[in-house]
Formats: sequence, C-alpha cells, structure tokens
Amino acid sequence: MSDRVPCINPRCRRTFKREHESQEIICGKCFRMLPDATRREHRGFWRELRKWDRRIARTSDELKAVRMRAIRERISFNLGLHWDAHIKAPLLAPDKPAGLDTFLEEVGL
Ligand SMILES: [Zn+2]
Repeated sequence: MSDRVPCINPRCRRTFKREHESQEIICGKCFRMLPDATRREHRGFWRELRKWDRRIARTSDELKAVRMRAIRERISFNLGLHWDAHIKAPLLAPDKPAGLDTFLEEVGL
C-alpha cells in the first residue's frame, strides 16, 4: 500500500498523504471543474455529516446517540453512492456522457 493517494482523475498527477486504506480523493482543482449541482450536492452531504457528528457529540442520551449514528450512517452511504455515480464514474468513463465533453477536455481527458 502506497503512502500517497492519487487524485481520482486519472489525468491529474496530484497525490495526497494516505490517511486510511481504500481512500479515494479528488483534488481541489479537479473538484472545481465539476458541475455546480454536483459540487453543491457533495458539500450538502458533508454538511449533514458534520451536523450529525455535532449532535452525537453533544447528547448524553445513549439511545438517541444510537439512532443518530444510524442516520449518520445512511448519509455516509448516500455520500458514497453520489461520489461513485456523479464524481468518480464521469471521470473514469471511457464514453463521455453528453454535456461533459467540455469539462473533460478542461481536465485533460
Ligand atoms: Zn486532480
């Protein structure tokens, strides 16, 4: 296992320090080239995760914490689906979906 993680854009040469196994990451430069809606959705998932992290940290009710962790888990799962379908797949797809051509040219595909 390498101690560096490459940006998921195969045409991008940036790498990051690895923090855990099977880590996937997109660099800021490639992220900024994604469609606005995709970036907004991606940030939305992270905002929700941070919100539930704060709530979980604040509560002293263990039963509530268990329920909140389940909600957080579901958001995390959906973030993963969104990442695969809307961020990773378009970058790795050999067939460029219509409308992504300009964007992919910009990122060097
Ligand atoms: Zn990149």
